[in-house]
Amino acid sequence: MEYEHFSQAPWQEDRWPNFKAVELACPHCGEYYHDEWMLDGIQYLRRNLNQPVQINSARRCAFYNASNKIGGAVHSQHKMRVAFDISIRNRDPAKILGLLREYGYSTFGFYGSFIHVDARKNRKWSTKSGKKVWKSLVAF
Ligand SMILES: [Zn+2]
Repeated sequence: MEYEHFSQAPWQEDRWPNFKAVELACPHCGEYYHDEWMLDGIQYLRRNLNQPVQINSARRCAFYNASNKIGGAVHSQHKMRVAFDISIRNRDPAKILGLLREYGYSTFGFYGSFIHVDARKNRKWSTKSGKKVWKSLVAF
């Protein structure tokens, strides 16, 4: 469900103790999309990875998604609902991908420094730099 501002979200601190709604909101205006299944997924990753999880980008409002800084796709899930771009800097990509799959995510965007997940089923894409990083783990 969409909220004009993350402060309106029904956040459960005991359920998602390692994240905050503010870090998953649009950095430009605070717009936020609440999806419990998506949140349980990053918390599952956090618990089992046993390392901090950095979300580079989550909700993006239409304006921010279209801005030059972001250049997001017109129908980006970051804008339509919510998606998480999970940083792999100083992390083991194999371990992260394994845990994300184990949880039940099946849509992945493979990038050089992060992996995108959203709630859709069985989609996959990659950038050129993403292929280099993920080629030993994924058949492109
Ligand atoms: Zn915004």
